[in-house]
Amino acid sequence: MSEQAITESGSATRERMSNVLKAVVIAIAATCFIYAIFRLPEGTLGLGFLLVLLFGSFVSPKLSLTLPRSKFAISFSDALIFLTFLLYGGEGAIILAALETFASCIYLRSSGFRIEKLMIPVNVAVNVITAAATYLFLQLFLSYAGETFHISKSQHLITLLGSLAFSQFLISSLFAAVFRSLDDGKSFWQTWKKDCFPSSMTQIVGAGLAGIVFKVINYGDFVTAAIALTAIAVAFLNYRQSITDINRAFGQVEDAERAKAETERERRREAERHADELRLALDKAEQANTALRKSEQDLQHAALHDSLTGLANRKKLGDVLRSLIAENKADPSTVFQVLFVDIRGFKNINDSLGHTIGDKVLVIAAKRFIRMLNPGDVVARIGGDEFAIILRDLKTVEKAFKVASRIHASLTQPFSLGGHTITIGLNIGIASCDPEYDTPEEILRDADIAMHFAKEKDDGPAIFTKDMRSKFLERIHLENDLRHAIDRGELLMHYQPIVSLTDGRLVGFEALLRWHHSTLGNIPPNRFISIAEDSGLILPITVWILHQTCRQLAEWQKIGSEYSGLIVSVNISGKHLSKDFLIDDVLGALNDSGVAPQTLKLEITESTAMENAEHSIAILKRLKEIGVQLSIDDFGTGYSSLSHLHRLPFDTLKIDRSFVNRVGEKGEDAEVLQTIISLAKNLKMRVIAEGIETTSQLAVLQNLGCDYGQGYLLAKPKGVEEIEEQLYKRTEWLPAEAIDTGGEYGESVGPREGLSLH
Ligand code: C2E
Ligand code: MG
Ligand code: MG
Repeated sequence: MSEQAITESGSATRERMSNVLKAVVIAIAATCFIYAIFRLPEGTLGLGFLLVLLFGSFVSPKLSLTLPRSKFAISFSDALIFLTFLLYGGEGAIILAALETFASCIYLRSSGFRIEKLMIPVNVAVNVITAAATYLFLQLFLSYAGETFHISKSQHLITLLGSLAFSQFLISSLFAAVFRSLDDGKSFWQTWKKDCFPSSMTQIVGAGLAGIVFKVINYGDFVTAAIALTAIAVAFLNYRQSITDINRAFGQVEDAERAKAETERERRREAERHADELRLALDKAEQANTALRKSEQDLQHAALHDSLTGLANRKKLGDVLRSLIAENKADPSTVFQVLFVDIRGFKNINDSLGHTIGDKVLVIAAKRFIRMLNPGDVVARIGGDEFAIILRDLKTVEKAFKVASRIHASLTQPFSLGGHTITIGLNIGIASCDPEYDTPEEILRDADIAMHFAKEKDDGPAIFTKDMRSKFLERIHLENDLRHAIDRGELLMHYQPIVSLTDGRLVGFEALLRWHHSTLGNIPPNRFISIAEDSGLILPITVWILHQTCRQLAEWQKIGSEYSGLIVSVNISGKHLSKDFLIDDVLGALNDSGVAPQTLKLEITESTAMENAEHSIAILKRLKEIGVQLSIDDFGTGYSSLSHLHRLPFDTLKIDRSFVNRVGEKGEDAEVLQTIISLAKNLKMRVIAEGIETTSQLAVLQNLGCDYGQGYLLAKPKGVEEIEEQLYKRTEWLPAEAIDTGGEYGESVGPREGLSLH
């Protein structure tokens, strides 16, 4: 049971006991009172007794004096009761006690004293019982004293009064202590000693007063009585005045103390209020501080992280790299590796599926990176589709290569997003920490260079080598020079004849770009075309080529009627095919030169045409509407989807020279060529074979029914003057063996019947 519960149950028990006791006391007192009325001796009810009762009921209660700072009052009731004992016996005293106590209670209540209503009968009962007990004691005392006791003797009277006072005090104080201790739960002895013992004074004073009055009434004369009573009255009035003064003084002191206590309480409350306000202000300041710290952290996080993926940004990457480089310089055993990752074809995803899907792809890629790396590694997004990864504590670049390969394998797995199945490619370059690196930019640059090589070879990650750097720099220089090549007149066209394999007729030329660098000399197309494509320079260059070749063709078509249908084939890069303005560029060249649209042919490599088939189909169809011819170039090197192929509006199909290369001298059979040629025929396309270098290859192709041929055997790409000269000379383009009846392959794969040469 809790302490509070114990206290509560204790006070309930005490209250019950107190109530029982009160009821018992009231019952006993009522009996005593009735008994006293019936036993009142005859003759008692005279004027004297009536005066005493009236005095006790109306005057005596008003004469009581409250002692300063005490719960007791000096009253005349004890004196009156003792006097009644002496004059009228115990029964009269009991009746007087009842009336006087009742009147006193009523008077005190009306004067503002706090006496509960229920306590009035209890107080009356206690005083009745006290008087009755004192009466009993008196009887005992008198029977003990016997004949020798004479009240007229002063010492006997004093003894009697003392005994009465003692008995009265003892009984009334016992009752008071019992009730009080039951009320407040304090010990009976403590209560009696502290609160009740001092009331003995009133009994002693009362007994003394009663003795004096008794003596005066019985043995004194009226004058003596008047003098005594006057003296007592004066003394009483004086005493009352002093008591009143003292009480007032005490009252003032108490008021002052109360005021002081109130002021102190107010001050304490004020102080507590201030403390609360201070606490509140401190709390608010703390909250503001926390919010400030949080927004500072957010700001710091935003400054160092990519908002889309949550990865570190370039700045943070730089910070980490800087400290790792410093660590590595201080202690070469602390090594790290840097991966530069680029998502291949990301632009296509953005263009074809929209930026929302593009963003999601980046987020997915970021998550996959994090999943595959150690907690100490750092992944940063440093560009649109570019990421950098720092692998810490990887001792060798070979280990980094393994991690990069794992990342490559995982991220290139197809995944579905918004109803699309998406496959991304990755180009990963790796650079290992090296004492030569002083800044983050240097190591990132080398990882970037390696990434470009990985992109070119398209076969997983590439590890940076110094050779790569020089090639890369050379590439950058070339790109710079290429920018000015047209203006400097360094670009020129070569033309390679395309010949009909059935009749040896010249059907046209393929226009091939040549770059005669002012200091480096001739630079082959396979070195600069990719640079032109990557840098976007291929677009203005192709426009220039279209104009050049169409104007050239117009001139050549005029040389003779047999050349009026000559065709020129121009290579169109994938970059250009994706642009709608290609149509305008082509129209511009046709208008500028005045050649018929059907004498211009555009060559598009198979892989380019298939890359974005839907868009390619749309552009190719519009080109067809203009009237130009279309040729699929390098056929066999890409992975054509037949379903797309038959929808692409190509007029001719050019077999890649690697297939031509394999037949004839290398002894391989011509089945692949046969298949491609059949496919082209089924798709209603004419077939051109490129790279014909030997007569045997020529014979096989003629035998398989290939329509046209192009290759060193027939003619190498040549400059304008040379071609023009041959046009005027009306050169035979097919070799003499092919003109012979079958040549070395005459029997089996010789030219068909009807083959005629110009
Ligand atoms: P391509 O379009 O397939 O051009 C044919 C290439 O084969 C040319 O190389 C040509 O010189 C070469 N060739 C022709 N016959 C033979 C042969 O019998 N044997 C061998 N080994 N090669 C032969 P070139 O001129 O070096 O061009 C290489 C590639 O560069 C071209 O392949 C084409 O993709 C690109 N290219 C050339 N000029 C242009 C251009 O003006 N625009 C664009 N976009 N690309 C061009
Ligand atoms: Mg070509
Ligand atoms: Mg080709």
